[in-house]
Amino acid sequence: MLGKMMHRPLLISHLIQHAARYHGDTVITSRETDGSTTVTNWAKLHDNSKRLANALAALGLEQGDRVATIAWNNRRHLEIWYGVSGSGMVCHTINPRLFPQQIIYVINDAEDQVLFFEKTFLPLVIGVKEHLKTVKHFVCMTAPDEEVRAQIPEVIFYDDLVDNQSAEFDWPELDENAPSSLCYTSGTTGNPKGVLYTNRTTVLHSFCISLPDSISLSATDVVLPVVPMFHANAWGLPYAAAMVGAAVSLPGPNLDGHSLASLIDKDGVTLAVGVPTIWQTLLAAAKETGTKLPSLKRNVVGGSSCPSSMIRTFHNDFDCETLHAWGMTETSPLGSANQLKAKHKDLSDEDKLKVRLSQGRPPFGVELRIVDAEKNNKLLPNDGKTPGNVQIRGYWIVDTYFNKEQSALEPDGWFDTGDIATLNEDGYLMIRDRAKDLIKSGGEWISSVELEDIATTHPAVASAAAIAANHPKWDERPVIIAQLEPGHEVTEQELIDHYLGKIAKWQIPNAVVLVDAIPISGTGKMLKKDLREQYGNLLIERGLVD
Ligand code: AMP
Repeated sequence: MLGKMMHRPLLISHLIQHAARYHGDTVITSRETDGSTTVTNWAKLHDNSKRLANALAALGLEQGDRVATIAWNNRRHLEIWYGVSGSGMVCHTINPRLFPQQIIYVINDAEDQVLFFEKTFLPLVIGVKEHLKTVKHFVCMTAPDEEVRAQIPEVIFYDDLVDNQSAEFDWPELDENAPSSLCYTSGTTGNPKGVLYTNRTTVLHSFCISLPDSISLSATDVVLPVVPMFHANAWGLPYAAAMVGAAVSLPGPNLDGHSLASLIDKDGVTLAVGVPTIWQTLLAAAKETGTKLPSLKRNVVGGSSCPSSMIRTFHNDFDCETLHAWGMTETSPLGSANQLKAKHKDLSDEDKLKVRLSQGRPPFGVELRIVDAEKNNKLLPNDGKTPGNVQIRGYWIVDTYFNKEQSALEPDGWFDTGDIATLNEDGYLMIRDRAKDLIKSGGEWISSVELEDIATTHPAVASAAAIAANHPKWDERPVIIAQLEPGHEVTEQELIDHYLGKIAKWQIPNAVVLVDAIPISGTGKMLKKDLREQYGNLLIERGLVD
């Protein structure tokens, strides 16, 4: 024999064991659904996840079984994550903002055996309960509560379940390819589709996001995952936090700007992760109260394009570096993260901002390419100018959706993301659109992302959606739906004039609609489909058809 290296499977149970052993006293602060705050640490969290693993075994669950959660980001949810995946079962995190019909669909599709839920979601659970074909146990994530028992007599209470168990449990040495968690896509077209992550993909993804050129996590950080644990596993942050031994601040149900600002200041959060709409409310609240969020050094923005004005405000007013990242449920989710390279060091602040605006470059472990999907996936140049369909392959990318026979991949093994973007020679990705949100005017694309970014550089605009409106001559023309900052005023014409000189004349939107609120999806994205349904014929109705 030439010699041999040890083989240890990459397991989620190893993450929590490591955190408990070497960072046992590192604090996890959890805002509970009843308004209280729990302070625990990695060692206690590990003990409770082992108690939960014992409890699940006592309920008769076996490896591979699916266990569902409808829950906020809090310490019980984290204990469930580690207890379920660590003992070889699959943690199916459900987005409570799905329609009840979709919730029924995903639970039946996953064949969940147990449903853990917050008391807040009791009405939702009662509404869907009789349609659930496989759920044997309903566990309310509280201490015993008579109000809940009155409505679900067979309910089990989390604290009873866990407190009665021993913290002695030997995590099984699973195959690293054993499935560990299941997230469904939001299903804007058709039924949601499940992505089944494995121990291996999760651990590799955790290494990746911890790297300095990704999110750069360390044992000195206090991380705040604002992004919900049901949205692509909170972008993997709670796993990576265990890997590096970071402290964690779990925000619970209150994700408004004021709650987040006070939590960041109280817990000394150094790194926070979420979608642009969250940061918008945080910035507004911080400006109102006057806090400079002194502990916050970095925030990660993903899920939708990050407006340039946001990066600037965090940098100039809060001394906080904004990292723009891109990914999707199918990609675990990290596909790219924006950190500068050595060659960008001496750029002016304004030129650095231009680099930072892109969604960043792929970390080791994934590869990106852009193709002309209409021409048999013909490869397009990485020149920073030519847009095409973004395709990805790598260590933590979906192959086949849950319960589907057919692979989701292109014939040569790449996954088509449905995003349209450019790539430059350094691999920096610039998302221009979702393929289904494209605005095609006279055969030419207009980037809705660019139009939205320009709108939000106007001081009166809080957020903006650019949509395609029907036009008899050009097929489609851009229309902006804008939500104003409280107390600000601007006319539609002033906003249209704001585009002059910033983009080619033919790309300037034909109309602006001012609305009280842009509808937002359960994962914090603007519901452009709804806006298109409402305003798709606006130009025809207003006679703006020249
Ligand atoms: P989801 O699976 O719900 O996380 O949605 C994934 C989609 O969100 C991607 O395919 C993109 O269209 C969009 N997305 C995610 N991150 C970004 C980003 N940084 N900029 C623009 N779009 C993004």
